[in-house]
Amino acid sequence: MRDTDFFRRWMDTATAAVEREADRLTELDSPIGDADHGSNLLRGFMAVRAALAAGEPAVASPGEVLQLAGRTLISTVGGASGPLYGTLLRRTGKELGDAAEVSDDALREALYAGVGAVAQLGGAAPGDKTMLDALVPGVAALGTSYRAAADAAEEGARATVPLQARKGRASYLGERSIGHQDPGATSSALLLNALAEVAEG
Ligand code: ADP
Ligand code: MG
Ligand code: MG
Repeated sequence: MRDTDFFRRWMDTATAAVEREADRLTELDSPIGDADHGSNLLRGFMAVRAALAAGEPAVASPGEVLQLAGRTLISTVGGASGPLYGTLLRRTGKELGDAAEVSDDALREALYAGVGAVAQLGGAAPGDKTMLDALVPGVAALGTSYRAAADAAEEGARATVPLQARKGRASYLGERSIGHQDPGATSSALLLNALAEVAEG
């Protein structure tokens, strides 16, 4: 079973990964976007770290941790990725309810619903060169292991290189979006890698 502390550590580990990789995420967003993905997520996850620290001890369940993180991303990140990641975490947190501990199966199903909410909000599908190209295969591989999920997301992010963007800012470039890795798919792989690191202890 996974307790509240596990989810706090997931968010803290994700924040550290965003701090480490922010420059790379922004670089990926420069040829096919507006060069702000790293700074958007850095601002958002710094606020998540602060909100979770300030929220103690009221933030007392796995579902509350993810819902607070999601709300914080929505309110602090101006770009497309804020509402999308915010929705992912809020919806996943809502699915977990107020249980003090959740099983890996319950987390997998909740994340599946969260990814569905991202697809619904953004109107994108796998193959459109968005974060869903990492999230969908990543969450599908959760049935195997957290490490398999992280690896599948990483592979999905790399597989966005030859795709033409059909959603988001990169789609304005048409065929010129081909040949670049999607920044949001790359950060989604970081998020699932952080989960695998925490699950592996
Ligand atoms: P913005 O494009 O507003 O500057 P960011 O740079 O922070 O926002 O995030 C860009 C990322 O958001 C893209 O790389 C893509 O993965 C993701 N994205 C954009 N639009 C959508 C959408 N409709 N559905 C899913 N993901 C999207
Ligand atoms: Mg951008
Ligand atoms: Mg922007």
